[in-house]
Amino acid sequence: MSARILYGKEFAAKIKDSARLEVEELKKNFGVTPGLAVIIVGENPASQVYVRNKHKTCEELGIISKVIALPEDSTKENLLETIDKLNSDKNIHGILVQLPLPAAIKAHSDEILNRIDPLKDVDGFHPENVGNLVIGNPKLVPCTPAGCIEMLDLAGIEIDGKNAVIIGRSNIVGKPLFHLLLARHATVTICHTHTKNLPEIARQADILVAASGKPALITADMVKSGATVIDVGINRIAPKKLVGDVDFDAVKDIAGAITPVPGGVGLLTVAMLMKNVVKAAKLQLED
Ligand code: NAD
Repeated sequence: MSARILYGKEFAAKIKDSARLEVEELKKNFGVTPGLAVIIVGENPASQVYVRNKHKTCEELGIISKVIALPEDSTKENLLETIDKLNSDKNIHGILVQLPLPAAIKAHSDEILNRIDPLKDVDGFHPENVGNLVIGNPKLVPCTPAGCIEMLDLAGIEIDGKNAVIIGRSNIVGKPLFHLLLARHATVTICHTHTKNLPEIARQADILVAASGKPALITADMVKSGATVIDVGINRIAPKKLVGDVDFDAVKDIAGAITPVPGGVGLLTVAMLMKNVVKAAKLQLED
């Protein structure tokens, strides 16, 4: 039997529709139009595509979008100053710094990101937001793992009581997803490069999430029959060819549900960013 394919497009459209409604309500009830500022440094072509996509989605939903393009040779101080201004700008509710930063300032990434007001930290990377997530009081949470949870919910896939296995322990995907799944009462295992017996652990999963950045790491023998497989990986294996971390063609005959790459859960990330901008605007109203 072939798995149900979870295409991201329909889920992303639902999330964006709900964000659009919330934007309208904020305008009508409080006279507030949510605003997002994206800081991009240098000329990284992939980053430029991501930033354009975020800008376009903001415009579709009635969110103010400000793109601040800084030159490649910007210093740490230039960035901190830009963030300080946005922190005190009442029309901007969300701030994000597009990563990766150029090599010369990459080492200062944490210091730069931590300068963002936690109430405007729509990427959810600030230690205060990470701490809130860990203690079970989430405020702004990272968009890609939040998209994984949203996709499971919208697809009607139960999380409570299920065995969830995440492959990858990054601060952007694996670790926050661990806490989001735990908060939803899954029994969660997180695997990484030092994990022994990865196939054996993966086979225990009712929900298997691959976020390793390794093409075809997840093969059919690592998947339990009927499991839900969420492929977060985005790997460019040729100039025009993107693949995930899962051997899709083989795994789809074993899994109960599976996300494709491209066209899967990745599409939910920008939609969840829009939800975070709206959430940030609401948090700032309460503040
Ligand atoms: P990362 O490189 O920071 O982390 C990868 C993790 O995978 C590490 O914790 C590592 O221990 C683990 N890992 C790597 N090889 C492994 C192996 N052979 N066995 C077990 N564990 C292994 O990457 P990241 O930022 O978390 O991103 C992971 C993937 O998700 C990438 O392909 C990235 O492009 C993609 N991604 C997609 C989105 C999106 O959809 N919008 C967002 C973020 C990341």
